[in-house]
Amino acid sequence: MTDRKAELAGNLAKVDERIAAACAAAGRKREEVTLIVVTKTYPASDVRILSELGVRHVAENRDQDAAPKAAACSDLSLNWHFVGQLQTNKVRSVVGYADVVQSVDRSRLVAALSKEAERVGREVGCLIQVALDAGASGRGERGGVAPGGIEELADLVADAAGLRLDGLMTVAPLAGEYAGRQQAAFERMMDLSTDLRRAHPAANMVSAGMSADLEQAVAAGATHVRVGTAVLGVRPRLG
Ligand SMILES: *Cc1c(COP(=O)(O)O)cnc(C)c1O
Repeated sequence: MTDRKAELAGNLAKVDERIAAACAAAGRKREEVTLIVVTKTYPASDVRILSELGVRHVAENRDQDAAPKAAACSDLSLNWHFVGQLQTNKVRSVVGYADVVQSVDRSRLVAALSKEAERVGREVGCLIQVALDAGASGRGERGGVAPGGIEELADLVADAAGLRLDGLMTVAPLAGEYAGRQQAAFERMMDLSTDLRRAHPAANMVSAGMSADLEQAVAAGATHVRVGTAVLGVRPRLG
């Protein structure tokens, strides 16, 4: 085993133990939580190692980095999640490799994703990104729609050709009433998910929790955690 493979295997084992412990503490089954490894800023060679180590879900936040990486790893059986703010001019590229877009936060993006998914004959899973710190504009600093905007967007996705409504995604807010209160933020997400599932019962994914707060997300009921640093190491640059 190479040094890097041993390092990633060790880190993955630690993260898996954290998820398992959080599940046990919450009385949840380990299978209820899926690990998505956020590989942004790290090379395709790391993605390949992760795949060899059994990782099935990876996430990226910038198309410029993600597109060549996904192409270099197209022989691997991986689900690619796009988790960054997405401009409509990148939609064509992203739909080329993403199985799930977790950052759907406006109607123009829904229209662009649908058009492209239809064109290439793919079904793209969509999560509505929720900004719990959304200001008066109804949008978050780092993308996302205010809770009041979820229903309209969800209905749009559900009715859009080529798209599948999978659920909700959030990043714990750094500002506003939920700043420093991850558990409360994730519990609010679960309430929003309950509301969403009344109209869309299959949209049961809740993607929440990162390296620093995955325990709180699992305790609240998240189905997917997105972990970067704790698996791959501290990123060399902001990404
Ligand atoms: C980078 C990123 C993560 C992972 O963050 P870590 O703190 O490195 O675990 C999760 N979600 C999104 C949207 C990200 O951009």
